[in-house]
Amino acid sequence: MLNSSLKQLSALLAARKISSAELTSEFLERSRALNLDYNAFITINEEASLAQARAADMMIASGRAQPLTGIPIAQKDIFCTRGWLTTCGSRMLSNFISPYDAGVVERFNVAGAVNIGKTNMDEFAMGSSNETSFYGPVKNPWDITAVPGGSSGGSACAVAARMAPAATGTDTGGSIRQPAALCGISGLKPTYGLVSRYGMIAFASSLDQGGPMAKSAEDLALMLNVMAGFDERDSTSLQREPEDYTRNLEKPLEGLRIGLPKEYFVKEISDDVARTVEAAIAEYRKLGAKTVEVSLPNTKLSVPVYYVLAPAEASSNLSRFDGVRYGYRAPEYADLNDMYRKSRAQGFGAEVKRRILIGTYVLSHGYYDAYYIQAQKLRRLMALDFAEAFKQCDIIMGPASPTVAFNLGEKSSDPVQMYLSDAYTIAVNLAGLPAMSIPAGFGKNNRPVGLQIIGNYFAEAQILNVAHQYQLATDWHLRAPGPL
Ligand code: GLN
Repeated sequence: MLNSSLKQLSALLAARKISSAELTSEFLERSRALNLDYNAFITINEEASLAQARAADMMIASGRAQPLTGIPIAQKDIFCTRGWLTTCGSRMLSNFISPYDAGVVERFNVAGAVNIGKTNMDEFAMGSSNETSFYGPVKNPWDITAVPGGSSGGSACAVAARMAPAATGTDTGGSIRQPAALCGISGLKPTYGLVSRYGMIAFASSLDQGGPMAKSAEDLALMLNVMAGFDERDSTSLQREPEDYTRNLEKPLEGLRIGLPKEYFVKEISDDVARTVEAAIAEYRKLGAKTVEVSLPNTKLSVPVYYVLAPAEASSNLSRFDGVRYGYRAPEYADLNDMYRKSRAQGFGAEVKRRILIGTYVLSHGYYDAYYIQAQKLRRLMALDFAEAFKQCDIIMGPASPTVAFNLGEKSSDPVQMYLSDAYTIAVNLAGLPAMSIPAGFGKNNRPVGLQIIGNYFAEAQILNVAHQYQLATDWHLRAPGPL
């Protein structure tokens, strides 16, 4: 059962072969035990989860079940969850019990899904290794000396280690796709605006997007059916007709045109990742797809552009944490200014402070034009690069991460090295496109490799189809670390 798909679990629940309370208990037990080693969860709350499971069992008994009713889902601790500690991985929110639900959490609640716990993450989603969390690093379940990726590393670890059937994540510059790749699971970052940001603690609002993380593309499609939708409380939420994201899953790939950006297959990518991604592309050719070389000429600028824009937005978003209304407040201070200063000095970790400093700098008088405005112009050019490429192909493929999971501590003292681990994911956020990472095999030290699939705006159903067809032909997505 630990390796079952959401569809299989849903069928078991519908046939009353198992109750949601039993299913939830089993995953809770496993999570409690494995969390001692992996640190994937910040909060596990058996009582709250089981109460939801019993309510789901009543929904099923009364014939009101929806596809995810009764299924345990882990929530990244960036999503405000009523009555639950919601920390965003920070000391600043280490005492924050949310009084309301995020739009995403609300949708899972309405669907009857069970919240199985809040997952660990880099502080305020700033990081690529989960090492910036106030709650300590998450371990990669394939090798506990390796990082799980970040910032949704707790979610990726929980799904990979089968502590939860599925989880939510957020992706500002790669935080769903990169940890999915490093932990050998599937993750989808939707088109910007498709999933509500209401109650999703803000990092860089023009880039942040919530999305699903699970074992397979089919599971992701079922989750996106719940997560996507207009929310008037989010000013950038898109008003669109609801879609069934499972509708194209079974389509054959005959004639699909796959664009391979020449800037993605360069010396910066490690041999094991290149080899594995090329093997995955060869599999697609067998499935009837054709490949064409495309160019995304501004790829090299994506990391520098992101590290101007994301910190600029973060410095503004994080100004709300002042120790006054909620969150951490320094125990001792001389006056109001001293209280602000000490609360922020003690409440934020080093990486968050670095971003606030950079962001404040690039937004300040005299530097705004030189950095912020320039970066905005380049962001536009990057979106145009994708638009050009999509004239020649239906989807774009490449690696999700330049290397397999690195070791804990390997990059934590060198922020630039850490930033470069998102070299293949960031441009997608700058353009607002949908993209996913799916497991494609193993590289050095038997650590997982992710294949990235990028689609045009609103092409979620298409990239899910492309991923699902590969998963019908291969079994990488069913491999789990350790015995089940
Ligand atoms: N690793 C990138 C960063 O540190 C992206 C994080 C994210 O997507 N939330 O900003």
